[in-house]
Amino acid sequence: MSLDDADVPGWTAALGIPGLYDVHVHFMPPAVMDRVWEHFDVGGPLLGREWPITYRGSDDERVQQLRDLGVRRFSALPYAHKPGIAEFLNDWAARLAGDVPECLRSATFYPEPEAASYVAARIEQGVEIFKVHVQVGDFDVRDPQLDKVWGQLADAGTPCVIHAGSGPVPNSHTGPGPVLEVLRRHPRLTAVIAHMGAPEYTEFLELAESFDRVHLDTTMAFTDFFEQMAPFPRELLPRLAELADKVLLGSDFPNIPYRYAHQLESLERLGLGEQWLRKVCWDNANALIG
Ligand SMILES: [Zn+2]
Repeated sequence: MSLDDADVPGWTAALGIPGLYDVHVHFMPPAVMDRVWEHFDVGGPLLGREWPITYRGSDDERVQQLRDLGVRRFSALPYAHKPGIAEFLNDWAARLAGDVPECLRSATFYPEPEAASYVAARIEQGVEIFKVHVQVGDFDVRDPQLDKVWGQLADAGTPCVIHAGSGPVPNSHTGPGPVLEVLRRHPRLTAVIAHMGAPEYTEFLELAESFDRVHLDTTMAFTDFFEQMAPFPRELLPRLAELADKVLLGSDFPNIPYRYAHQLESLERLGLGEQWLRKVCWDNANALIG
């Protein structure tokens, strides 16, 4: 039995939650998004395989698609892949959040001399979620230029989505080791590990078990697409059930090679129950971010 996008509002209502809270959605300035999509179209070296994108409309069309799905809150998660562009992305994301009430105020940063000052300003302005992409940005989270930034985020309690897992293609900075070192220095950091840490599921799950404020986002995990590349070890399911309060729905919309509903049916078929799904799809992010 497969779930279609049109069935999603009914699926959510049957769970008894007001909608979906998706912490891992991408909106970027159109010229940047076009370049990202070109990269996906050719199955570039950071992807390692074909990756046809399902939702390629304009920003307005994609906002409407999320509304039709009943996604009541979503992030915009721009990410900087080089120095000097984070604030351009952050300005754009601030305008989007101003125009679209469901959109979380989202921002990014990169290891560069100005990072601590613009991150402090963005926290002051009420940014609700940050994102860094170690796999695309190819930087070390232990970079000394980020030490103050991690401290600021830990003090503020603002979540930061970190793509640090070695999927889909590793680089010399991906993997759980560097993130563990950052957490040892900043144990109160609200890190949201993107993609459940795929393919290093076990190690990142241990971080969520070990540090109070480390969460995991479900982005693309458990889908047929990810299961072919990096299957989630079934023996971890009991621990995933235990972590019910620390798993957040993420989808990677719009950059997904399948319909949105497939992420939800992939969560449901884990068999962890309706209470787990309610927490993951709404309650946890609502409690963390509001
Ligand atoms: Zn993403």
